[in-house]
Amino acid sequence: MSKKETTKIIHAGYNPDDYHGVVNPPIVRASTILYPSLDAYEDPNTKYRYGRYATPLSDAFTGALTELEQGYNAIATPSGLSAITTAILGFLKSGDHVLVVDTLYPPARHFCDHILVKMGIEVEYYDPLIGSGIVDIIKDNTAVIYMESPGSATFEIQDVPAVVKVAKEHGIVTMLDNSWSSGVLFKPLTHGVDVSILSCTKYIVGHSDAMLGAAVAADEKIYRRLKKSAIDLGVCAGTEETNLGHRGLKTLHVRMKEAGERAPKIAKWLEARDEVQRVFYPGLESDPNHAMLKKYYSGCNGVIGVLFKPIMREAIVAFTDALKLFPIGSSWGGYESLTQPQYLKKCRTAVPWEEEGAFLRFQIGLEDPDDLIDDLEQAFEKLGESS
Ligand SMILES: *Cc1c(COP(=O)(O)O)cnc(C)c1O
Repeated sequence: MSKKETTKIIHAGYNPDDYHGVVNPPIVRASTILYPSLDAYEDPNTKYRYGRYATPLSDAFTGALTELEQGYNAIATPSGLSAITTAILGFLKSGDHVLVVDTLYPPARHFCDHILVKMGIEVEYYDPLIGSGIVDIIKDNTAVIYMESPGSATFEIQDVPAVVKVAKEHGIVTMLDNSWSSGVLFKPLTHGVDVSILSCTKYIVGHSDAMLGAAVAADEKIYRRLKKSAIDLGVCAGTEETNLGHRGLKTLHVRMKEAGERAPKIAKWLEARDEVQRVFYPGLESDPNHAMLKKYYSGCNGVIGVLFKPIMREAIVAFTDALKLFPIGSSWGGYESLTQPQYLKKCRTAVPWEEEGAFLRFQIGLEDPDDLIDDLEQAFEKLGESS
């Protein structure tokens, strides 16, 4: 019987029969793993060797993620950012050229500009809408094409199959930050991407109480490079966090579906406000990425970008400080609503950001949507009073 994805994820990664029928995997706190004999110690097939490499709990988590992303195997990392850096470092060396999407997660951009550049790697940013035009900026030494789709804050959806086609023709490894979809809404590996990267801190953990990341490999060769990079860098995820990530996977689909149903309502409401210049949410028909979303994604998440019309800073301060259900805070994908200003002029170079208005990102949590709209409405009143 071929099972649907939600059914598979409920049972993925762990077999209760392996541990007396206990429904969840045991929380394994391990550094040392004992060997019964010298032969066992020297046997290359011995499954568990040291806590940093793998434990039955980390295997349960990476196994479930592998199922979710339809990959070969995965590594778990202490954060989404460390999943990005571990993956990139595994496939680049001095003298290489890497093509990086301009709309990537800003801390990942810092890593490229500081660490990669210091290593003598040439970093070149490209327009997220470049598609098959990427062929024109490939060099003989291009080793990796790095994608993030949709892009951070503005949510441009890349033409992944077009980029992958060019990469494959040139023997270039492709990676995609799939955190926005959290592995649910889009399956990069089924489109030929080699590595799918996840900030599990967001929807997978889902409760704003842990940092966790993962990178899922499409095949064995890619997995070996990823795993080697993690081992060389000493990267492994913490036990408690891994457990929270595994637990979060069991309700991930329900939470994502809910986010994708409530956020459009709020995005539409925001779009109708006079103070708003543009709403960035691919789930809206007015968003230029809507057609690509329909083509490749099974839904939308709960994160909305809002560009305000140019108004005085005092008015934006009055607005954000008046919000009660949207406190200012980093991250998204948790149970609670948040807002956070974005400074796009500082982190776009291939397609410079020219807009003058303030930009706020809204994470739509699990509060009642009517209450969220009421809260936004009273904050807009405060904005009006001070502009
Ligand atoms: C938050 C985020 C990350 C980094 O994840 P952390 O778990 O916070 O390190 C990476 N990519 C995207 C798109 C993100 O939003």
